[in-house]
Amino acid sequence: MSSWVYDFEDLEAAKKSVGDDWDAVKGLLGGKGANLADMASLGIPVPPGFTVTTEACRRFTETNDLPDELWDEVVQHLQLVEQRTDKTFGGGTSPLLVAVRSGAKISMPGMMDTVLNVGLSDAVAEAMVARTNDERFVFDSYRRLVQMFGSVVMGVDSDHFEVVLSSQREHHGVASDADLPAEAMREIVAQFKEIVRARTGEPFPEDANKQLRLAIEAVFRSWNSKRAFSYRDAAGIPHDMGTAVNIVAMVFGNTGLNSGTGVAMSRDGTTGQPHLEGDFLINAQGEDVVAGGRPTRPIRELEDEMPAAAGEFAEIARQLEIRHRDMQDLEFTIEDGRLWLLQTRVGKRTAQAAVRIAVDMANEGLIDRKEAIRRVTPEQIEFFLHPQLDGVEVAKMDPLTHGLNVSPGAAVGVIAFDPDLAERWGKEGRPVVLVRHETKPDDVHGMLAAVGILTSSGGRTSHAALVARQFGKPAVTGASDIHVDLANRSLTVGTNTLDEGDWVSIDGTSGAVFAGKVPTVDPDLDNEWLATLLEWADNERKLGIRANADDPVEAARARSYGAEGIGLCRTEHMFFAADRLPLMQRLITAPSPSEQREALDSLLPLQRADFAGLLRAMDGLPVIVRLLDPPLHEFLPSWEQLHRRTSDLQLRLARASGLEEMESLLDELDETRTMLARVDALKETNPMLGLRGVRLASRIPELTRMQTRALIEAACDVAAEGGDPRPEIMVPLVSHAGELERQRAVIEEVAAQVIQERGVEVTYLVGTMIEVPRAALTADEIAQHADFLSFGTNDLTQMTYAISRDDAEEAFLLNYMSSGLLKDNPFASIDRSGVGRLMQMAMTDAHKTKPTIESGVCGEHGGDPQSIEFCHQLGLDYVSCSVYRIPVARLAAAHAALAD
Ligand code: ADP
Ligand code: MG
Ligand code: MG
Repeated sequence: MSSWVYDFEDLEAAKKSVGDDWDAVKGLLGGKGANLADMASLGIPVPPGFTVTTEACRRFTETNDLPDELWDEVVQHLQLVEQRTDKTFGGGTSPLLVAVRSGAKISMPGMMDTVLNVGLSDAVAEAMVARTNDERFVFDSYRRLVQMFGSVVMGVDSDHFEVVLSSQREHHGVASDADLPAEAMREIVAQFKEIVRARTGEPFPEDANKQLRLAIEAVFRSWNSKRAFSYRDAAGIPHDMGTAVNIVAMVFGNTGLNSGTGVAMSRDGTTGQPHLEGDFLINAQGEDVVAGGRPTRPIRELEDEMPAAAGEFAEIARQLEIRHRDMQDLEFTIEDGRLWLLQTRVGKRTAQAAVRIAVDMANEGLIDRKEAIRRVTPEQIEFFLHPQLDGVEVAKMDPLTHGLNVSPGAAVGVIAFDPDLAERWGKEGRPVVLVRHETKPDDVHGMLAAVGILTSSGGRTSHAALVARQFGKPAVTGASDIHVDLANRSLTVGTNTLDEGDWVSIDGTSGAVFAGKVPTVDPDLDNEWLATLLEWADNERKLGIRANADDPVEAARARSYGAEGIGLCRTEHMFFAADRLPLMQRLITAPSPSEQREALDSLLPLQRADFAGLLRAMDGLPVIVRLLDPPLHEFLPSWEQLHRRTSDLQLRLARASGLEEMESLLDELDETRTMLARVDALKETNPMLGLRGVRLASRIPELTRMQTRALIEAACDVAAEGGDPRPEIMVPLVSHAGELERQRAVIEEVAAQVIQERGVEVTYLVGTMIEVPRAALTADEIAQHADFLSFGTNDLTQMTYAISRDDAEEAFLLNYMSSGLLKDNPFASIDRSGVGRLMQMAMTDAHKTKPTIESGVCGEHGGDPQSIEFCHQLGLDYVSCSVYRIPVARLAAAHAALAD
């Protein structure tokens, strides 16, 4: 018989109903319910209770009604709880109160609703006062119920209740609700009930069963609240899973100074250090800790207050870590010295903490190395590459204030005090720092639009901290010196005032806050845990990782990040340097072969030095040098510019007086006109498909000769020094095997000459890019003349789609993606069914000709995790990506290998 309800003590029945699969148990009971039942089965102190399943939620969502047989089951299970606690729900001398708690399969912290102290009414309150002799505690619990029930179930805006509380605090001269006397609590309950009646036209229900039933329905409904919906969209959680509802006997952290409540992680969620991290409050209940209304205390101080409970808690945290083989996020309450666990789940963490925890846990033997690799995402590695505030600048500055460093990284942006404005400015492309007293679930859209988050209240486990960490936003919370003045749209710290729209810089790594715009720097990757994790990843991956780099400094950095060679050196970058451009222009505009020779001769030593630097930086590793690729006009001034210069010179000539001046102006005019004529001659309607790549090399074979000579001479130089150069020459934009065949002949001729001249033994490879569809389609023919193939997936995507990337990304491509026609941007992630299909055909055909041919991808796709997975599946030898993507690529390649 299938059931709507499972007791915490009856985990076995729930397991059985879903085939003993833990993931399915969580699907049925929600994460919170499954883990509460699991803790109960381990003998960990959990208050008695039971779970109404997610199936019931789905059913409720369909019919908008609780089925009668479901309610009957609830009543039966409630009786079990009454027996176990020896209390009565809704009456008696020892009344039972319960918490009605949401809990989906995937945790959505704070997104759905929970109602505490259900079962209280005027009569029950008096019975409890008689029993506990503690009027303050009873009416504190009661006013919490009316407030939560009023807002969650009956839809009254919480602000109305807050107004009453703050006026009572003022009246009694206390800072915290916990210090309000009993008679104030009574008064508050009466006023809260009046608010409910006035706002809804309905009285607060005194009947416990009615409260329970309505609370269950409200929790089910909260699955489809707007904020839960947008959270799921942002976190990629499906909308049809539904939430479970947990009915748990209340335990009370608000009975006095020997009671309290708290939230803690079993390891530090910011740094990953292996110690408890969290907050607690003495004499408090429910969400006081998370809400940030009262200043919380760090968990290590619990030791001083209640040593026995603190010790037991640390022990249980450790036990649950071992049980779940992961860092746990725990909620607990201490009632009169006795510890109760209310929740455990896998804890959210920063990228830094994720890496450290994964490595530490593997070293502790909790998980194996493969699991450690799987637990860190490529995006988290990317976070290590995020900018930080420039330490040199920071040392010279006085921070405005400090808060808690809850989510690392720097954020520099303009202040916005509300989430809607943050979202609007964010959409306009302005970097925004969202500044709030504290954040609420309704603020999430603004938090996502912001580059960073700053709050004046709230601890390490506050909403702002949790959301910021999850979405990788730098954040500082609890900067309590900050006074936000919403009326004037400004904030003040002491005598400093910043207005909305002013710049502010926050350092989520240290907690510092600065007025103005602090410069940022890229961090180094010198993190010992990251280094270890990436080493482990290297042992798993099958793909090689190379860098796209054009100069020795970049190459050296790439190597230090783990690059195993250079997959693409774009030689044109070398020609754009200030000392080379004029030489290049002379080459292009040379009127006679001898003048062209001269220009080439002066370029040769410069190229040779560049290449030698690269070969030295990548000693013992392959360096792929691509022959000149872009159309020549890119090296010349624009036609418009030259035209303007001509008119200008003519004007000056007309006004010139001295003969000498006229002569020099005439010379200049001549030169400009020659250049103009050359630019005219090179003008193409569609340069991307014009005279470039191998077509250019075929037109000016001297270019290939010069570049080959420079590279092979450099290799000889490096070999003569005792180095181990591994040059590879790559011919771009080949579409016909004959093009490569002819270039190869030129290259081999020059190389043989140089090697003979120098008398040094160096070896080299000659290969080509596959970036034209025809090349992919004729890869078998091309492979006859190539030692290696490198997919230029950017051009290949442009030409396969017949889309010009620069134009498309600004125009229709975004529409294609936002309308769902395209799932991913094909320029960011390889289009597997089109471009990928061409790559696959090319590989199969090339292997038929030459089974050992070396293959790889160069270009931006080489650093994209999804594309890397595809390259792994294709069996390529390596991916090549920009230097900063190398650590990401190392991990992604390991993930791809582990997924096999
Ligand atoms: P959330 O998913 O938003 O954390 P919970 O259902 O965990 O919601 O409840 C919120 C808070 O209510 C918890 O932090 C806990 O302190 C308190 N709480 C929940 N159940 C009980 C209970 N049975 N007794 C006392 N406090 C409880
Ligand atoms: Mg919770
Ligand atoms: Mg290209």
